[in-house]
Amino acid sequence: MQSLKIYNTLTREKEVFQPINAPYVGMYVCGPTVYNYVHLGNVRTFTTFDILYRYLTHIGYKVRYVRNITDVGHLVGDGDEGEDKIGKMAKLEKLEPMEIVQRYTNDFHQVLTQFNLLPPSIEPSATGHIVEQIETTQTLIDKGLAYESNGSVYFDIAKYNEQGGGYGKLSGRVLDDLLTETRDLDGVGEKRNPLDFALWKKAAPEHIMRWNSPWGLGFPGWHLECTCMSTKYLGETFDIHGGGMDLKFPHHECEIAQGKGSTGKDPVRYWMHSNMLTVNGQKMSKSLGNSFLPAELFAGSHPLLDQAYSPMTVRFFMLQSQYRSTLDFSNDALKAAQKGYKRLMNGLRIIKQLEYVADDTLTPDEKHISEVTKGIQGCYDGMNDDLNTAITIANLYNLLKKINQLYMGQLQPAQLGVTVFAALKTTFVSLIEEVLGLIEEKNNNIEAFANGMLALYSEYKAAKQYDKVDQIRTYFKANGLVIKDMKTRIDWAYEE
Ligand code: AMP
Ligand code: ZN
Repeated sequence: MQSLKIYNTLTREKEVFQPINAPYVGMYVCGPTVYNYVHLGNVRTFTTFDILYRYLTHIGYKVRYVRNITDVGHLVGDGDEGEDKIGKMAKLEKLEPMEIVQRYTNDFHQVLTQFNLLPPSIEPSATGHIVEQIETTQTLIDKGLAYESNGSVYFDIAKYNEQGGGYGKLSGRVLDDLLTETRDLDGVGEKRNPLDFALWKKAAPEHIMRWNSPWGLGFPGWHLECTCMSTKYLGETFDIHGGGMDLKFPHHECEIAQGKGSTGKDPVRYWMHSNMLTVNGQKMSKSLGNSFLPAELFAGSHPLLDQAYSPMTVRFFMLQSQYRSTLDFSNDALKAAQKGYKRLMNGLRIIKQLEYVADDTLTPDEKHISEVTKGIQGCYDGMNDDLNTAITIANLYNLLKKINQLYMGQLQPAQLGVTVFAALKTTFVSLIEEVLGLIEEKNNNIEAFANGMLALYSEYKAAKQYDKVDQIRTYFKANGLVIKDMKTRIDWAYEE
């Protein structure tokens, strides 16, 4: 098995990945809050973990990948006070909250499919786990790590730290600094300490998303759902937890506190955070008004775009940088990505068609063999070095040079030998398709092709070259189409 190193946000080091219960791997990724359309920034983060999921599977692990849907508890402003993001949309649009949830969950799935992201093994939702969230809140109260105040329940950070919890260790925040930063606006007067965060919130009369609980009508705090769902499906301590960099604090810091507080164990071995997609250096976000919807990219309709880009071009663009560096959106970079992606696809088509031909007159060419072997190793070294897809892609281009030499007849398969040739083929195809998830976007514009052929058909007919005319008819038929040669015009139709 390959030795994969991943950067662990918790230890701030690249560590060799060793699952708790190999070959099984438990992996949890914070999913979207489904109150608006998913933008390209969100897609970047989910693509990072799609690559991780794909690579772990590729190198032989059996991964249970849990990615949730946040459909309650994430409040406008990301704090403990205010309207629920989904509830707010539901009111604005005069819809049921679950209609909002369904609409944006459908969009999320559709977009991720367009970008060829694999579905997770389990996709649980926060509203489907209210019982578990009430239970964990009760456990934390019983352990003296949470307290009820005016119908809401808060996590007690001071108590947690007295017991050696270490709140702040993931994000590197110092408690005293946090205290000075906090403008005690959330849960004013209800909290013992301004840093305490809500596990359960009392629902104000106008708050439409609410459930019964031992503390009255209310709803769960945003951070709790991920603790409950990850524990339920992956266990009290599991291998990998991921999300965007902006979730490190407070969301993931609070998840650690809730998990450790309720079970006594650190919930996660490796914390992974994907960096932000930026526009002119600023984080892409809906609220900043600088976000692109995938549909705008595919149509080229956004004012900052000067042309349309296909899903695979955009996926390739994202993979050209390592997930821990920021990635700035730019037209030029996308144009370069379009070229780069097509070059890879041409290589893919060629290598799939190339077969090994034995030739006793040729001897193995050590220089070529060593270059191919180095290229293959380089591809894996890139992936193993904290999923450095940029390095992997650079090495795929090195392999592409060899593939083109084979194609042009400048190099014969027999000069590589059967083993190296097979390794070149397998590596190139599987890394591009299975691991990077880059697939050929076929040009399905049947209209343009058929009309071009019809123009030829008319020319041959006028020139009375009937053998050519028949050839074209046969070609249409072979593709499930027929030529309609009518008195007034010539057209084509699907063969009925
Ligand atoms: P949200 O639906 O806002 O909770 O975001 C879903 C995921 O997208 C989270 O993991 C965020 O960290 C991530 N995310 C949001 N904005 C960006 C961005 N500009 N670049 C990369 N990831 C982002
Ligand atoms: Zn989460």
